[in-house]
Amino acid sequence: MRMTVIGCAGSYPGPESAASCYLLEEEHGGRTWSVLLDLGNGALGSLQRYADASAIDAVFLSHLHADHCLDLCGYYVMRKYHPEGALPKIPVHGPADTARRMAKAYDLDEDPGMNEEFDFIPYGADAVEYGPFKITVRLVVHPVTAYALRIEAGGRTLAYSGDSGVCPGLEDTARDADLFLCEASFMEGAVNPPGLHLTGREAAETAERAGVGRLLLTHVPPWHEPDAVLTEAVPHFDGPVSLVSSGSSYDI
Ligand SMILES: [Zn+2]
Ligand SMILES: [Zn+2]
Repeated sequence: MRMTVIGCAGSYPGPESAASCYLLEEEHGGRTWSVLLDLGNGALGSLQRYADASAIDAVFLSHLHADHCLDLCGYYVMRKYHPEGALPKIPVHGPADTARRMAKAYDLDEDPGMNEEFDFIPYGADAVEYGPFKITVRLVVHPVTAYALRIEAGGRTLAYSGDSGVCPGLEDTARDADLFLCEASFMEGAVNPPGLHLTGREAAETAERAGVGRLLLTHVPPWHEPDAVLTEAVPHFDGPVSLVSSGSSYDI
């Protein structure tokens, strides 16, 4: 499984990166399957630099904050009004309210909203099997309904925090993952609201408890110095830990 960072800026786009979006690719049945984890603001532009945006097979949203879902608006236009004809409907997995939320974001009537372009599928208790990917989700703590995602393909496992405070759902999602892509939005020492985000240290401590192979820190807001977030994480995880940047790719 290959993961490419399309956008990794936390909470809003920065000068070096769009907001959250990660491209996963895996060979299966004679072709490359491509899915997106989140499609935050600015990410649709960057996506076109690294992939054929019209060839995405499915989108998986962690939650419905703007920095994780809002470029679905532009993506709706690209698929609906494509000059070669409307592109096939693709699944968008997310929280139960995703169809209504996206119609509202684009100022569309709820019926049909984006339902003719996207097949909105709410997460349930069962794993989603999609081509080579098996995706399971866990609820995490955040001010809105939010999920951490665990993606298995080709015998390897990627865990993605979405946005989360410290919680059992996050740790369960990351358990023994080969790679843990985890948000680190806060700095130690500040007055950080509980149940919202993680510091680098909390991300590292979660990774350590979960026994992951490698930790990648993401979702650092542009107002923080990424290296300072990394420095806070390093002593608390007994394995490789680094920051992601837009455009970097990882073979998992
Ligand atoms: Zn966020
Ligand atoms: Zn959020």
